[in-house]
Amino acid sequence: MTERTTRAQRLSMPLATSAIKDLAAAKGGCIRPVQLRRTDIDTGQIQQVLVPCGATLAAVCPGCAERAKSLRAVQCREGWHLENEPIRQPAPPDDWQAWLLEQRADAQQLRDHSTAEGHDISELDALIGELDHELARTGIRGNPDPGKKERTRRHRSTRRRQDAPDLPVRKVDPRTTGKVYTAPDGKTYRPSMFLTLTCGSCGKVTVDGAPADPDSYDYQRAARDALHFAALFDRFIQNLRRFLGYDLQYFASIEPQKRLAPHVHIAMRGTVSRNDLRKVIAATYHQVWWPSTEVVRFDGDRLPVWHEASGNYLDPVSGEVLPSWGQALDSIGPDDQPLHVARFGPKFDAQGVLAGSKDSGRCIRYLIKYLTKHISGCHQAITDAQRQHADRLMEALRFEPCSPGCANWLRYGIQPKDAREGMRPGACKGKAHRAEHLGYAGRRVLVSRKWSGKTLADHRSDRKAWLMSMLDISAADAARYSWEPVTPGDDDYMSHSRRLLHVLADRARWQAALAEARRKARDSEGLPATARAA
Ligand SMILES: [Zn+2]
Ligand SMILES: [Zn+2]
Repeated sequence: MTERTTRAQRLSMPLATSAIKDLAAAKGGCIRPVQLRRTDIDTGQIQQVLVPCGATLAAVCPGCAERAKSLRAVQCREGWHLENEPIRQPAPPDDWQAWLLEQRADAQQLRDHSTAEGHDISELDALIGELDHELARTGIRGNPDPGKKERTRRHRSTRRRQDAPDLPVRKVDPRTTGKVYTAPDGKTYRPSMFLTLTCGSCGKVTVDGAPADPDSYDYQRAARDALHFAALFDRFIQNLRRFLGYDLQYFASIEPQKRLAPHVHIAMRGTVSRNDLRKVIAATYHQVWWPSTEVVRFDGDRLPVWHEASGNYLDPVSGEVLPSWGQALDSIGPDDQPLHVARFGPKFDAQGVLAGSKDSGRCIRYLIKYLTKHISGCHQAITDAQRQHADRLMEALRFEPCSPGCANWLRYGIQPKDAREGMRPGACKGKAHRAEHLGYAGRRVLVSRKWSGKTLADHRSDRKAWLMSMLDISAADAARYSWEPVTPGDDDYMSHSRRLLHVLADRARWQAALAEARRKARDSEGLPATARAA
């Protein structure tokens, strides 16, 4: 019946399973859904529920990554132009809580007394446990006796050397919102700011981001700048807060420039003049007080050996124990230089942004633009020069210590912090050394604690609640159900392709329902108020 086709023609026809996957992805559905079994505790009714995988990278799941990105946009928007403090002071305890706290204090005193006298305290411990549990249930946060796990911290003279920026310092006010400006016509404005900071130069680059002269480009500096970028950003915020005298809040995203050096886009609440910014940027630096890596002591086949009995690395020839991380730090003398000093470049980009303006929306899109991609995926290498540039940077990162626990310390004759068997210089598993991270191992989005006063999970549940009300669905009573994962051995386990069919059907239904709900909302808004009320 059908015409004869060639093998090439047949191969070019879409495969049902991959076509369904593509369709599901195009409709924004999750392509790696997790199957859960939901049992209604009252009726015993069982339902299969497919939960989205929640990936943040488009290469893993485009639909989930896009949703994660738009959630970040919501978070950014909600905090940027806040006029009132997002977090109020904690309320004093109510009568019941106060009574519980008094009981807790009595029990503690009795316990401490009994311990000193050598009496049995098991009953008192049980009572204290119950009181703590009850206190937590009433909404009291934290442990009444947090001092139990006191940390012992090394104090090193090198710590003091860190940073005394050349800036006037003000006492930091707990306020988090910016200044209000009043125009001659009486209108008030509370402008916010969009700021981009970059690393300093490591050598001249051409338009495609590759160095003009690769041999003189400072790859070591480029690698170290990327490794310590997050710490430098942190220091900048501290300095800016002290300089401005209030608890400045930010939503920042980190991504590479074309030359593959990280830069940071920052949405800030409140504004700073360009002149002041220039001062703070110039005065901000981060010193890395790590041991020197100038001399390569072990290389190739000549590597330190692990001594099981003492848990140390030894010199393979002399059998001497290599200095531990702590010893290496302690031997940094007063005349030594820091391993690296990270600074921002003098060029920065700053603009004032008003709430609800076109600029505000554009900046937010800019901030979240690359969030669904790996750092290395933000700029595709097209030319040979770009590819070689990326390779050279990776080579520089290969033996650069990424952290105190990095295996690369062995190359320089130092035992990494918490050394264990099987560490090999050049083979550290740290994120920073991987091609997709280009030396930056930190988080892509950095949000200060009092940005919107909500966590990402809070924003997610807001959105869910909005969808539910839009579709007129009341939230199911969570306590009514029990949930369990469905595994391949179970009778009701759905194959991956079956799950994708369900995702596709669910997406289509949801989208239609949502479009209908939106249309209704729009229609009712178009009518005069009296008609709507009727
Ligand atoms: Zn997914
Ligand atoms: Zn490492």
